[in-house]
Amino acid sequence: MSNLDTLKDQRRGLMIVLSSPSGAGKTTMTRRLLAQDPQIAMSVSVTTRSPRPGERDGEDYYFITKDKFAALEAEDELLEHARVFDNYYGTPREPVEEALADGKDIVFDIDWQGAQQLTEAAADDLVKIFILPPNMRELEQRLRTRAQDSDDVIAKRMNKSENEISHWAEYDYVLVNENIDRAMGELLSIVTAERMRRKRQPWLSGFVKGLIEGQ
Ligand code: 5GP
Repeated sequence: MSNLDTLKDQRRGLMIVLSSPSGAGKTTMTRRLLAQDPQIAMSVSVTTRSPRPGERDGEDYYFITKDKFAALEAEDELLEHARVFDNYYGTPREPVEEALADGKDIVFDIDWQGAQQLTEAAADDLVKIFILPPNMRELEQRLRTRAQDSDDVIAKRMNKSENEISHWAEYDYVLVNENIDRAMGELLSIVTAERMRRKRQPWLSGFVKGLIEGQ
């Protein structure tokens, strides 16, 4: 590792919030982002909903009871929490604080309610990105192709989608996921640009001083 790399490591990580209606491709994009960049960690939420087929405890979510959720909330161990559909979701505080202190960026797959709470708690470190589907037909199609929810649940999710979409203007960046490769390119550009913001590179003043003094 060069001296410059060591200096650049001295930064606080970004909190990258990704919100979208269900089925807009957010999970796929999050997975790809994590696979491409080891500097980025995922915030694994707790939820009171049951696991879907293929979901793994501790990877997709920590699946917990309503009592356990209430206890975490009472002990202030959740950075944010919300009720979505008939279930509760929340972000455990400690792993986020550890990762940020470590200089890692963290991705949050949370809804608009969580994004609002994080804005109040940590606006400086936050980058909020909203992912839109190209149209509502496609959104429903994607929910059906996923085929893990009943018709009833899909209808409910479609209704909720409109509500989620109505919050698009509360985000710093908005992208339309019509083509996953292009959307990924846009997402990576946002992350790169946000890392380069002057305020996120406190090491620069020492570096520039060294440059000028000819070190
Ligand atoms: P799903 O049940 O489909 O996994 O997630 C439903 C919604 O809950 C999604 O919009 C997802 O982003 C949101 N969500 C997941 N985890 C959290 C969380 O910890 N906090 C908040 N506020 N929303 C979450």
